[in-house]
This record gives sequence, structure tokens and C-alpha cells, in this order.
Amino acid sequence: MLTKALINSTDKWFHSLETAQTIYLSSHVSVDVDNLGSTIALYKILKQMGKDAHILQSDIIPIAYEFLPNISDFEQELLAVPDMYITLDSASLDRIGPHVEIFQKSPIKVVIDHHNSNVGYGDINIIDPNISSTCELLYQICKSYKIEIDEDIATLLFAGISGDTGRFLYSNADEMTYHAAADLVKLNANVKAINENLYQRRSLGKTRILKNVIEHMHLLFNGKLNYSIITRDMLKEAGAYIYELDEAINILRDIDGVEAAFLIKEADDDVYKVSLRSKSYVPVDVISEAFGGGGHKKAAGLTYKGDVNVLVDMLTKAMGEYLC
Ligand code: 5GP
Ligand code: MN
Repeated sequence: MLTKALINSTDKWFHSLETAQTIYLSSHVSVDVDNLGSTIALYKILKQMGKDAHILQSDIIPIAYEFLPNISDFEQELLAVPDMYITLDSASLDRIGPHVEIFQKSPIKVVIDHHNSNVGYGDINIIDPNISSTCELLYQICKSYKIEIDEDIATLLFAGISGDTGRFLYSNADEMTYHAAADLVKLNANVKAINENLYQRRSLGKTRILKNVIEHMHLLFNGKLNYSIITRDMLKEAGAYIYELDEAINILRDIDGVEAAFLIKEADDDVYKVSLRSKSYVPVDVISEAFGGGGHKKAAGLTYKGDVNVLVDMLTKAMGEYLC
């Protein structure tokens, strides 16, 4: 069920859709399945409405996501300014990477998201931090506004909900999430393909790099904090891509006695992507925001430029405040 505030902003969006014909939607950097699922699903819905919709790619798309319907429709770059630009699952503007300029030039900017740290950088902001995923939010919009969900859209939405809830494992999966999932299964979401592609396959390179994550971990604060650093050399040696480290943070966090964990991934010269996770009481979104990142209370991330030792010291200190 959509809240009153959400219905107000969605009404406003649908009103402005009446006159908008060309619409761009973009994925975010370090794409995940909630972002891809919601972006492609909305693109298909807009096309069904007769709109000239386009999806813009912001980053490399992992092989495991290639089964998603219409994944090959992503375009690299479009120069003309659209009537409307929509971002989904993108907590801040920098998340849309190379397309920021086109977004800023667009006359109507729409932001659809579920991140608490999203300040609402659009003209129309449809944001609910209490909902599991952007895909669940889009599902609720479809239901409230009687938008048809075909098999492909059901697959895309289910995939995103499953991804962001860790297969319905995390506390963001509530009663409404299960209802949405059940309905999407009824609408013929391809759960088999989703599970096989997202959870029952792993490249050899990814398998090898996970060994490095465990080998290089450091337990601090009586085993309550755990962190690991993966360099580009390690990735090269393992034959793995940086995005294949996406779930590795869970290995660090899930160890008995660990409350919070972070994984530092070297992305470029002096550029590091960091994933932060907690089990119950460390607000990693607050810590992440202090370093220019964002996310959720128990799952957040940031990008850091500078000396990795300084980064480790700062994160250890910030997380340690909650762990002493
Ligand atoms: P992950 O660790 O899986 O990359 O990201 C966990 C969460 O933190 C996601 O919800 C993601 O949106 C957010 N996040 C990851 N990296 C960044 C970042 O660089 N900036 C912001 N604002 N959020 C991030
Ligand atoms: Mn999400």
C-alpha cells in the first residue's frame, strides 16, 4: 500500500507523464538487480504506454544479470535532452555516473527510490525508505494505478525484490514484501531463472577471490569488527571482476561474534569502493554518509579517493565508536 505522500507524488508524476514523450531512465554505477529490475520494468511499462523510452547504462553489467528480460536494450549514451529523466534505486545523483549532465538538463526529473539517504534530488520524488526495494515500490505503484504486470515485468520485479532482501532473508522483507512476491509468482515471474542465475552459479575467478577475502580479513574489537582489503592485483591473479565481490561482504559479516564489517575494493589508482554491513546496531548508513556515501542502516557503501591506510583508520575509528 502506498502512503498518502507517495500517492501525491505519484499523481504528480502521472500528470506530467501526459505531456512527456521522450523519457530516459538510467542504471546506476555498480549496478545491482534491484536497480536493473526496476529500471527495465518501468521502461517496459512506459513503452506499453506508447512512450519513446530509453534505458541508459551507467556501468558494466555482470554476466549473472544477462538473463533479465530486455537487458540488451540498454544504450551507452544519448545526447538529446529528453522530456523527462527518471532515476530508480539511485540514492544520490552521482550514482548515475556518466549521465549526470543530461539528467540536470532534463526539464522534468523524477526520482524513484527506497534509500533513506536519498535527499530527493528530483523535481518529483517518489521515495519510501520503509519499503524493501525499488522493485517492491514499483510493484505497489502498478497495483495502485492498475498497470498491467506481464510475465517479463513480474520477473524483473521479483528479481529486484529477491536481490535486495537477500532472498527474503533481511529485515527489510516484511509482510507486504511476501504478498508482493506471491502475487508476482502468480503473474508467472520466472523464479527458476532468477534463482539459477543469481544464486546457483559462480565463476571460477569469483570462487578464487572469495578465498582472498577470507585470507586477508582482520578481526578487531574482540571480534566485533571484521574487514578485508582486495587489491586489483589480487583480482587479476584470481581472474575475477570487481563486481564479483558484491556478496563477499556477507562472508565477513556473518561470522559469529561479528557485528559490523567492511570490505575495501581497489577500483583504480588510489580509488576504493567500500561496502559496509552490520548485523543489528551499528548504523552503517550514518558512517557511510560521513564519508560521502550512503545506503541503509545495515548495508551501505562509499567511494574513497586517497591513501588506503588512512581509509582503514578512519573507518575502524568510526565503527569502533559503536563497538567499544
Ligand atoms: P554495496 O555495498 O552492495 O555496494 O552497497 C550497499 C548499499 O550502499 C546500496 O544500497 C547502495 O545503494 C549503497 N551504496 C554503495 N556504494 C555507494 C556510494 O558510493 N554512494 C552512495 N550514496 N551509496 C552507495
Ligand atoms: Mn535497492
